[in-house]
Amino acid sequence: MGSLSGMTYKIRTFGDPVLLTQAAAVTDIDGKVIKIVEKMFETLYESESGIGLAAPQVGIQRQIFVWDMDDEPLVILNPKIVESDGEWVYDEGCLSIPGLYVEMTRPKTVLMKGVDLNGNEISFEADELEARLFQHELDHLNGVLMFDRMQPEQRKQAMAQYIMITEQVDPVEGIVRLRAE
Ligand SMILES: [Zn+2]
Repeated sequence: MGSLSGMTYKIRTFGDPVLLTQAAAVTDIDGKVIKIVEKMFETLYESESGIGLAAPQVGIQRQIFVWDMDDEPLVILNPKIVESDGEWVYDEGCLSIPGLYVEMTRPKTVLMKGVDLNGNEISFEADELEARLFQHELDHLNGVLMFDRMQPEQRKQAMAQYIMITEQVDPVEGIVRLRAE
């Protein structure tokens, strides 16, 4: 997909306080919401590695997330997980914590309900990766990050690993420097 400059948002990364805030429900599905969703898809596709994106990750405190697992762009507003079952282990990653993948256990299947862009009620029953995506993106709408889901020891290790990832080696000088914000 070609680059559409001006059509994408900057993805907020760990340390940005917007990632820790509770998003507000969408009460009015107007042109502004449609525009946000379009721009979120462009941002998701530009990221290449991402399969889902929640509005707080682009600085918007609204209960919206988009995802695309099989060339099918999908969006949900005001989602809730109403049922979950089982356990599934997966190396979870996050566009807002780039480069970090941590083995995390969460429910294997979920039932999620919300509304679509027409205001109609929708529900999705998902398993494994898609179920993980729903739980991960819904966490973003509640200001919850992967780090918050980890056990203390796992969190300590993941934080240390992430600090290492955010440092990069200058290919010319061979020195490690902090990535410029
Ligand atoms: Zn994430």
